Amino acid sequence: MNLGKHILLTFIMLMLISFSLSSLFHLQGKESGSKNEALEPIPDPWITQIIPPGGSISSVLSNLDLPGTEIGMISWRIGDFIDVTTIQPGDTLRVLLNDTGDKISKMMFVQEPTVRHHFEARGDSLAYSKEALPVQLRERVIDGTLETTLDAALLSLGLSPADKQNINNGLEGEISFQRDARKGDKFRVFIEERIFEGKPLPRAKILYVNYEGVRSGFHELFRYQQDDENSVLNGLYNKDGKSNNTSGVGYPLGSIHVSSSFGTRLDPFTGRWANHQGVDYRARYGTPVYAVAAGTVISAHYNGGYGNEVRIKHPSGMMTLYAHLQSFGVRTGQTVKRGHIIGRVGSTGRSTGAHLHFGLYSGGRFINPSNLRMVGAEKLNEKQMAEFKQQKEVIRAQMQNVLNPQVAKL
Ligand SMILES: [Zn+2]
Repeated sequence: MNLGKHILLTFIMLMLISFSLSSLFHLQGKESGSKNEALEPIPDPWITQIIPPGGSISSVLSNLDLPGTEIGMISWRIGDFIDVTTIQPGDTLRVLLNDTGDKISKMMFVQEPTVRHHFEARGDSLAYSKEALPVQLRERVIDGTLETTLDAALLSLGLSPADKQNINNGLEGEISFQRDARKGDKFRVFIEERIFEGKPLPRAKILYVNYEGVRSGFHELFRYQQDDENSVLNGLYNKDGKSNNTSGVGYPLGSIHVSSSFGTRLDPFTGRWANHQGVDYRARYGTPVYAVAAGTVISAHYNGGYGNEVRIKHPSGMMTLYAHLQSFGVRTGQTVKRGHIIGRVGSTGRSTGAHLHFGLYSGGRFINPSNLRMVGAEKLNEKQMAEFKQQKEVIRAQMQNVLNPQVAKL
C-alpha cells in the first residue's frame, strides 16, 4: 500500500467515524427532545435577583460577576430615581448584561409588586422610565378598644408596623400613655389603602386618628398633605396644626428622597466596599439646606471629598455635617437656629451629581442619622393652616361616607 492510498483510507475512516458519532449525537438529541416536545430551553438572558431581608441593590448586584466600580456606579445612579428607603425585601431586580458580560445594559426593578422601574445604560448615565399597574383605592375606618397597649391593639387590627409607629408618634404628643391610658379606652383610625389583587399594599395613608379615654379625654389628629409627595410636612397634626415634636430636630431639606443610606456600600469611585458615613439626599442644584437644630457653625469651607461643607456643633454635644454644597449661607463662628439656611445643594468634592450628604457625629463617631427623630414642623404656618383647615373638612366628609354608605348613595 502506497502512502496516497493510506491517507485516503484514513480519511474515509475518519469520515465514517465522525458520521456515526454525529448521528449518534443527533439521535440522542432527538431522544431527549421527544421527552419534552417544543420546550427546547432557550436560556433567559435576564438574571433575576430578589432583595433579601437587610439587602440592598448593591448587595444583590454583587452576586453577579461584575467590576465593583460598575456595581457602585449603577447603585449610585439608581438612587437618583428610587428612594432607597422604599426598597423592601422581596422586591425583584432583573438585569441584562452587555455582550462582553462586564457591564449592565438594562435593568428592571419590580417593587411591591405594582411598580416597575426600567433602566437602560446610555454611556455614563441611566435612562429611566416608570410603569405602574393600576391599583384600587379603598378607604377604611378601624375602630378599636384598648386591652393592653395601643401598640398591641393597632397590630392586632392588621396595621403594618410603619403605620402603627406613625399613629403612635402622632398621639404621643397629645396623650401621656404611661400615665393616662386605661383598658377600655377607644380609638379610631381612618386610612386610605391601595388594593392590588384583592390585598392591601404596605404603607397605607393615615388620614385621621382619634383617641378617647376616661383619663386622657378626646383627641384627634388629621393628615396634612402638600402637593409634593416627599414634603417633610406631610403627616399627622392636631386640630390646631401642631405636630408632635419632642426631639427638636428638623430635616436638612424641605423634601426628602434618600438616594443612599448609611452603612456599607460599593464605592462608585474605587469599586470597593466602604462605610458610607451619612445619608445622601437627592435634590436639585440650589435647593436650600437647613440647620436641623440650633448650634454654632464650627466650619464652612472646602474639604476634599466632601467639597463645600458646613459643620454645626449643637448644645447636646452632637455635630451635624452638610456636604457637597454649591454655596455657603453661613460663616465659621456664626450661631444658627433650627431651619436657618446654611447653604445650597451642589455636587462639589467627590460626587457624581447634585445631592446633600448629611452626617451626624455623636460619641466620637458618625452614627446613622435615620435613627434621629426628625420632624417637618412643630406648627403649620398661616398659609399651611388655611390648606389644613380645608383638608380636615374633606377628611371628615370622606369618613362620614365610609361610615354611612347608604347616605352617600342617595
Ligand atoms: Zn454621602
